[in-house]
Amino acid sequence: MIKDIPHLGNYIKISENEANIYERVGLKYPWQLTEYYASLIDPDDMSCPIRLQSIPDIRELETTFGEDDPLTEDENSPVPGVIRVYPDRIAVIVTNKCPVYCRHCLRKRFTRDRSDDLKGQRLETVLSYIRKDRAIRDVLLTGGDPLMLSDNELDGIIGGIRSIPHVEIIRVGTRALCTWPERVTDEFAKMLASYHPVWVSTQFNHPREITQEAENAVDRLLKQGIPVNNQSVLLREINDSVDTMLKLNRKLVSIRVRPYYLYQAQTLAGTKHFVTTVEKGLEIIKGLRGWTTGFAVPQYVLDTPCGKIPLNPNYLTGRDGDFVEMLNYRGEHWREYNPLP
Ligand code: SF4
Repeated sequence: MIKDIPHLGNYIKISENEANIYERVGLKYPWQLTEYYASLIDPDDMSCPIRLQSIPDIRELETTFGEDDPLTEDENSPVPGVIRVYPDRIAVIVTNKCPVYCRHCLRKRFTRDRSDDLKGQRLETVLSYIRKDRAIRDVLLTGGDPLMLSDNELDGIIGGIRSIPHVEIIRVGTRALCTWPERVTDEFAKMLASYHPVWVSTQFNHPREITQEAENAVDRLLKQGIPVNNQSVLLREINDSVDTMLKLNRKLVSIRVRPYYLYQAQTLAGTKHFVTTVEKGLEIIKGLRGWTTGFAVPQYVLDTPCGKIPLNPNYLTGRDGDFVEMLNYRGEHWREYNPLP
């Protein structure tokens, strides 16, 4: 892990002014990245999409925008470590640490300078909460990044959850496939697979993140029968164009990762410079739908304290008697006979 400026200086040029900025921003929002992720930065390109996601920016200290916890996750927490928005599923925060502290992270509010891993009595409380509620059929391990825990620690947590009969599926949300692929070992994949059905959700945001190392890590999971879904975040000047999103999603399906969600960036403190308009997101979805493989088009969503809201371009333009009128992916009109009852 790279945690200090001299170490980071092996990967990018850092002026004195930039070093001061990284230190100032880091006091509020700590930074850290893996040597692997730093090696993907183009040192000559200040607008490199890897750099923008991982290197502190003075704009993070802008104070007139957003909330620390726009999804009110802290309020939607029936017991410490559990977030619950939906009736049949919960998210369990297993750690506050990550290999890379993404500058756009929804959980920028987390304290990162000390470990806050789920273990001991707190883990027992979470397991007991799940045991008592038979409506919970789907448990997502999240964080932080769960892969910051050792295989043994994860084995203990996942084994505890799997021993609860009404839990049908377990999901692990990790960005390690993108930011720290060597962490996803064959041993880890086998351990996960021993608790099937297990699904993995990850976050690739730019085609440049899809490297041979990332593909190999995905392959280790797929070989164990673990499906991998991608949840991108729409980020200004990083992936907010049809061309970038086409390349990203085509590359994802070529390594057999399903593009699942495209998240609208939240009204989150310290991230104003990443936020696009919803209209921009819809324009991107229109630029994908019909122009590439259907399952390479993610569902664009806005996450809210009361659940995800799908955001879709409108292809239905009206009704004329027994005909509905619509547009195809090229914007051409179509009339479909569809009699009223
Ligand atoms: S890996 Fe996920 S939780 Fe960790 S900093 Fe990045 S976006 Fe946030």
